[in-house]
Amino acid sequence: MPRKILILGGTGLARDAANALHDAGCAVLTSLAGVTQYPILPKGEIRKGGFGGVDGMVAFLKEAQFDLVVDATHPFAAQISRHAAEACGATHTRLIRLEPPVWKPQKSDRWMEVGSVANAVAALDENVRVAVTVGRKEIGAFFGRYDISGVARMIEPPAVAVPSYWMLELARPPFTLEHELALLGDNQINVVVSKNAGGVRVAKLDAAAQLGLPVIMVQRPEKPKVQTVASVEALMGP
Ligand code: NAP
Repeated sequence: MPRKILILGGTGLARDAANALHDAGCAVLTSLAGVTQYPILPKGEIRKGGFGGVDGMVAFLKEAQFDLVVDATHPFAAQISRHAAEACGATHTRLIRLEPPVWKPQKSDRWMEVGSVANAVAALDENVRVAVTVGRKEIGAFFGRYDISGVARMIEPPAVAVPSYWMLELARPPFTLEHELALLGDNQINVVVSKNAGGVRVAKLDAAAQLGLPVIMVQRPEKPKVQTVASVEALMGP
């Protein structure tokens, strides 16, 4: 097991990986973008804030001399993964991506797959009630559609003003099926918008299927082809 490890984090999976590697005796530094004000922190050391592009990350890696970089950032955080691939290539640092497998539609699902959040916004019919779980950074485009309303869920409040006809749910996953059924039912939701974050299938998808609601599923952006594992167990090895 490599001794000195940098984890590019910001996800629950990154936290699990940091805890497991720390418990296995590795010196773990988790890097967070610093966008969440009150993140749940893993074991080991923490640094916060961007590196300053590829050049900044190259300088950081040269200085710290990690045995391994684990890119456990969210599947939709495309820029940091591109930077990691370039900077690790330039410094000959071993890089592994930790990324959960995509969700695949089941028989009872009514999914419409789109290539981006912008396409999801454009795909919404007029006057629908929508439940949006794409995060605080990209919610503004939905608020800009004055003919739609609904529920916007995220961990911390968005930087943009929330229109009065939207309900903001500030909460951290996981959510129970009962919670999701009540959220969709009580708010007269007609359609759900989600990113294909992947991993264990989440309750909102089961709730939408049970209620017969369509889900607009945003597909993941392209990331550089690097060695990838799908779970912390696979990362830790046999
Ligand atoms: P992004 O677009 O890929 O990255 C934007 C910039 O943020 C990067 O160029 C880098 O700045 C900095 N950055 C991102 N992740 C970092 C990390 N772990 N450590 C240090 N700097 C980091 O990322 P994003 O989509 O804004 O996501 C930001 C963070 O939130 C990520 O760490 C991601 O894991 C987490 N997150 C994202 C989503 C999502 O849907 N996008 C969902 C859940 C969690 P420099 O160029 O200055 O180095």
